[in-house]
Amino acid sequence: MRVHVRKRRNEEFYFGAILIGNYPDYRIEFSVCLLIDLGRIIQIRKCSHTDGKKIKNNYSNLILLPALVNAHTHLELSALEDVVNPGIGMSSFIKKIVEARRLLTLEQMQMSIDRQIQELIDHGTLFVGDISNHGYHFRSLVESDLEGILFLEILGLDPQEATRNLNHMLERQYSLQEMAGSGAHRSWETMLNPHSPYSLSLDLSKLLWSHMEKNESRRRACIHFAESLEEIDFMNGKDGPMRDLFMKFTDAPLTALSYYEALQFWSDHCRFFVHGSELTDDGFELMKEKNVGLVLCPRSNLFLHNRTVNIKKAISSDLVCALATDSLASNQDLNLWSEAKHAQHLFHLEPAKIFQMITINPAILLDINDRYGSIAPGKATRWVGIPMDSMQDLWFSQHETQYNNFFGNLFLKAVEIEKTIFL
Ligand SMILES: [Zn+2]
Repeated sequence: MRVHVRKRRNEEFYFGAILIGNYPDYRIEFSVCLLIDLGRIIQIRKCSHTDGKKIKNNYSNLILLPALVNAHTHLELSALEDVVNPGIGMSSFIKKIVEARRLLTLEQMQMSIDRQIQELIDHGTLFVGDISNHGYHFRSLVESDLEGILFLEILGLDPQEATRNLNHMLERQYSLQEMAGSGAHRSWETMLNPHSPYSLSLDLSKLLWSHMEKNESRRRACIHFAESLEEIDFMNGKDGPMRDLFMKFTDAPLTALSYYEALQFWSDHCRFFVHGSELTDDGFELMKEKNVGLVLCPRSNLFLHNRTVNIKKAISSDLVCALATDSLASNQDLNLWSEAKHAQHLFHLEPAKIFQMITINPAILLDINDRYGSIAPGKATRWVGIPMDSMQDLWFSQHETQYNNFFGNLFLKAVEIEKTIFL
């Protein structure tokens, strides 16, 4: 079911229940009326069931939740499902993906991307941070019901080519941004973004950094960081599969920063790191000091490397942590509910904490928490509705067991129930 509310003026909506607040103070408010105006919530008020019946937009059968935010996808890799085997490791993964992409037609890629855009929406994700090399699929994104940031990925280990690399991607960005239009209702933004510390020369990193400073994009820039031991070995100058791989790609000297140099450099210039499976204790400390968040993709990490992030360490370091899916090349789907369910089993965190990691926390890291992440006045009308009757056996209280029961069951139900969103 989908209801388009973005263009409506001063209209009331009635809901059976709404999840309001943020972790650790989530609560369910039953029988609620929302006043909305041009895609924003103006007011939330309690309303009797009888008064609710008089409201034209009556959704008394739904529990309203904030839309989910997936801070790390690579939609352009959607056609590469089942191309690699589990446990393949970083350099073999990159090699395999580069080879497999060459064999795909644009049409094949486009079809799989469109399917995944729909899947994301059907499972309640309405905002994504999508990483891309070229942005060929940007028109599909802009024309879809998704909103997001397209991170145009920059890489290049040849210092001689640094300026050319940056300028090339800047031109690309300008042409894409034109497609997104301008104004308050623009649903997509683009920005240049570093790929990883092991795939950029120091010269290119510095050029990109000064570009980011000028454009104030540091507040939402991200980088793949400490995903695998292979990359750390490569950065620390050791021989290994990653070095062999890059020597095939380039004749230039391999000038990546060492792990510690990269940690210092990129903590100064990024809002969040993606993956972080191999982060050291002082890595976590530095991230905390520099207010760098962490986006983890546990299913992808376990699939490729049989390891994932030390979540207890990340949380005890007070990092803002979010869950994301990564791409279909290393994950079975882009359903954030499934990722959440998996993470809950893996990390034994309370379900409400996990829910925070697919709503408000990624919204904070992407700097969209004025619109996304929770249901509150001023926020966008970007919601997920779950049928009340599917949750009939649940009731909500501040008592810890019931609280966790609610979210635990919410994950189960949300994975089961498809197409329950509205915008
Ligand atoms: Zn990635």
